[in-house]
Amino acid sequence: MTDVLAVTEHRRGDLRDESFEVITAGRELADDTGGDLHLAVISGDVEEFAESVNREGVDHVHTVDHGEEFNHDVYAQAVEGLYDEVDPTVLVTPNSVNGLDYAPAVANALDLPLVTDAVDLAYDDTLVVTREMYGSKVETTVEVEGDSFVVTTRGAEWPQAEGVGDAEISAFDADIDESAVGSTVTGFEEVGGGDVDISEADFLVSIGRGIEEEDNLPLIEDLVEATDATLSSSRPIVDNGWLPKNRQVGQSGKVVTPDVYLAIGISGAVQHVAGMKGSDTIIAVNTDPNAPIFDIADYGIVGDLFEVVPELIEEFE
Ligand SMILES: Cc1cc2nc3c(=O)[nH]c(=O)nc-3n(C[C@H](O)[C@H](O)[C@H](O)COP(=O)(O)OP(=O)(O)OC[C@H]3O[C@@H](n4cnc5c(N)ncnc54)[C@H](O)[C@@H]3O)c2cc1C
Repeated sequence: MTDVLAVTEHRRGDLRDESFEVITAGRELADDTGGDLHLAVISGDVEEFAESVNREGVDHVHTVDHGEEFNHDVYAQAVEGLYDEVDPTVLVTPNSVNGLDYAPAVANALDLPLVTDAVDLAYDDTLVVTREMYGSKVETTVEVEGDSFVVTTRGAEWPQAEGVGDAEISAFDADIDESAVGSTVTGFEEVGGGDVDISEADFLVSIGRGIEEEDNLPLIEDLVEATDATLSSSRPIVDNGWLPKNRQVGQSGKVVTPDVYLAIGISGAVQHVAGMKGSDTIIAVNTDPNAPIFDIADYGIVGDLFEVVPELIEEFE
């Protein structure tokens, strides 16, 4: 019992970034435990997904061909079945809406300790989990008691696994009890604001309270158009009702990892940074040279957005 089992994730036919992040987290753990890394691919086009997640460091991919989309009861049963089969030291799932849905149920059913929202992991005779507390102001290290553990990993904390692996891919008969499947996915409706998914965007123009009022939004929308970007924001903009909830970046919004994150009039509060620090290149525009956003920005413009943004629009156009 030294292996690690990580569960991948997909939605509407596409593997999510978390799938490739749990591979990295799982591989690191398996190096610590001295075991193999197993991946679970459940529902959807499992054969295609299995090929895609067969990246460097993966030893086994187990597919469970049942239904198309995530379903709590199917995942809970399939993961429990795979846990019995693999007998891992650690079961890793993304700390996503889906992961947080079935991981506690699996931990409860198997009577295993569960630690959520890990930002770092290690195994040294026991599982050692780093978590953030008090709005990401404090880091804690949790040494978990037990022989086997369930842990959920925060998005964008681990790089996505790359390379092509030579894992053994096999179908697992999870023997799903249909009478215990109490729900069916009948369709998708994105949280307010249509089907824009800011977590999929390559270039985000993100606005904060510095824009002062809703009437100033068209200026930012012009920049979004000129740069062919996607619009996102800090929480106050959503709380004010100026943008829908699906545009919010941060601890209580979405975790984003674009190539470019252009933060305009955003101070860089820890709850905001928690959602965007994984961006490749961070650019900040702020009047305050001491704004915390500049601590993590690759490029910064200390200036008034009402002067800077029109110049950027002109430049891009
Ligand atoms: C439990 C909890 C969860 C939270 N979750 C989130 C979350 O998910 N996402 C999130 O964003 N926040 C979240 N918050 C709120 C967070 O603490 C901050 O209050 C918020 O991020 C601040 O947003 P802001 O940067 O837009 O506003 P402010 O902090 O008010 O910053 C505005 C910035 O604009 C600059 N500025 C002003 N005028 C101009 C100008 N003309 N040109 C250029 N710059 C200018 C100012 O210098 C300032 O730095 C959460 C808080 C809590 C307690």
